[in-house]
Amino acid sequence: MFFFIGGIQPKTVVLDKQPKSCPACGHIEVYLKRVDHYLSVFFIPLFPVKKGILFLVCENCSTKFDARGIRIDVEKEWEERKCSHCGKPVAPDFIYCPYCSKTL
Ligand SMILES: [Zn+2]
Ligand SMILES: [Zn+2]
Repeated sequence: MFFFIGGIQPKTVVLDKQPKSCPACGHIEVYLKRVDHYLSVFFIPLFPVKKGILFLVCENCSTKFDARGIRIDVEKEWEERKCSHCGKPVAPDFIYCPYCSKTL
């Protein structure tokens, strides 16, 4: 019997330590971040399966922007793509489905 205790874990990386001003609320609390997804076995991240899109997020009002300053909804964007095998929502540039582990 083989138990595969693993899965895809998101890992938020802060790429910029210097906060920028928020176009929505004006607070200087905007950081450049990226959510990478790692394939982990026994809760140890082994290798990244997906490099996330870069986005700017305001710590004050939690508004997200892309590099051009256009408002984006990271979570919503991810919901829009569904796995063709199991129908679960997956991130737009995922290589493997985190639910059924089939190649997308
Ligand atoms: Zn803000
Ligand atoms: Zn699937």
